[in-house]
Amino acid sequence: MSKKLLLKDAHIEGIHYFETYRKQGGYTAAEKALKMTPDEILEEVKASGLRGRGGAGFPTGMKWSFLAKPEGVPRHLVVNADESEPGTFKDRYLMEFLPHLLIEGMLISSYCLGSNTSYIYIRGEYSWIPDILEEAIEEAKAAGFLGKNILGTGFDLEIYVQRGGGAYICGEETALLESLEGKRGNPRLKPPFPAVKGLWERPTVVNNVESIAAIVPIIDITGAEYAKIGVGRSTGTKLISACGNINKPGVYEIDMTITVEEFIYSDEYCGGIKDGKRLKACIPGGSSVPIVPANLLLRTVNGEPRYMNYESLADGGFATGTMMGSGGFIVLDEDQCIVEHTMTLARFYNHESCGQCTPCREGTGWMYKILKKIEKGEGKMEDIDLLWDIQRKIEGNTICPLGDAAAWPVAAAIRHFRDEFEWHVKNPELSQTQNYGLAHY
Ligand code: SF4
Repeated sequence: MSKKLLLKDAHIEGIHYFETYRKQGGYTAAEKALKMTPDEILEEVKASGLRGRGGAGFPTGMKWSFLAKPEGVPRHLVVNADESEPGTFKDRYLMEFLPHLLIEGMLISSYCLGSNTSYIYIRGEYSWIPDILEEAIEEAKAAGFLGKNILGTGFDLEIYVQRGGGAYICGEETALLESLEGKRGNPRLKPPFPAVKGLWERPTVVNNVESIAAIVPIIDITGAEYAKIGVGRSTGTKLISACGNINKPGVYEIDMTITVEEFIYSDEYCGGIKDGKRLKACIPGGSSVPIVPANLLLRTVNGEPRYMNYESLADGGFATGTMMGSGGFIVLDEDQCIVEHTMTLARFYNHESCGQCTPCREGTGWMYKILKKIEKGEGKMEDIDLLWDIQRKIEGNTICPLGDAAAWPVAAAIRHFRDEFEWHVKNPELSQTQNYGLAHY
């Protein structure tokens, strides 16, 4: 059984209330941290090996150490709660059931970074969660863990919750900052990076909800102990939101030493494929990461078992591997049509493109139109090559990662499931009435 650090108390009734959270040992890590120096906390975070849980997996301690500290200029911590990646819903779970874990993590992180005003930027569609967070903030303030002179240390902290307007692009950190400043959420060109010029041109750290929540156990058990959980550079625990054709969709905390096979088939996690069907493919890290067929999902090309961690999932690069990403684990059974699935994603990215750069603005639309044509049985063989060509021209040629996020699913689908694209072209009548999955398994 995986060790639980974040969700260990999630089952306790009323854990979202300060009193219950406190009874379970809540805010003791904050009390400990406030007796340390900011540099000592930073060293613990670095020692933990924690990697950003939003998708990129960049080491959190290193990110924090980049924060500029010019004299007299306020600094900010911004929590990215704009969880909009299809298939990803683990931050929602954390905020809904364990709001004080996030607030405690923010208190420790803000103290370390020297932020006296910190923000939670939350996805607009999570309409009921800001109330939960704001109530928890008021409770923490009443108990002396937020506001002026926290626990008599002289450290002040205010936390504000800002609701997003429902745009996926605002999950990109610079678009988020633009939106938080009250502007249209268009990504900024980097550099300068937010660590130097972020919110209102002030040094800013933007971190994912889960990353900030993980600061609590890191301080609690020490960074060195946290680093002993997991394997290699995949330290600590990771939340996975599992969905699709599985028996037990939900949010699971894993310690990154389990195999993908165990995660899918064991009763502790996904409980196997629904209705006894066969596993066809999976997108293990949210819709932006490459889809992998079952054989490459369960084993690497060398025949080694694939594990639920950053390195193992990426083994072989994009040709045979995928990415841990945000931990949005989408399982597809034998009946699913890869062309239809890819078309749905292409439509999503086209709709969410902010339109600033031509390859993304135009390319995502072209990809969607071509995929729609092929899926309806109206495509030609050369459309498959055209699709490949378009995604190649988007990747790496845009201001923000949405371009890559739109290109990778198309590239992986053609690479691993070209036969399905060809089947749609060769069988125009059949592809209007049934899909490749149902016809071939
Ligand atoms: Fe906007 Fe797409 Fe360019 Fe990102 S890649 S800045 S979403 S047009």
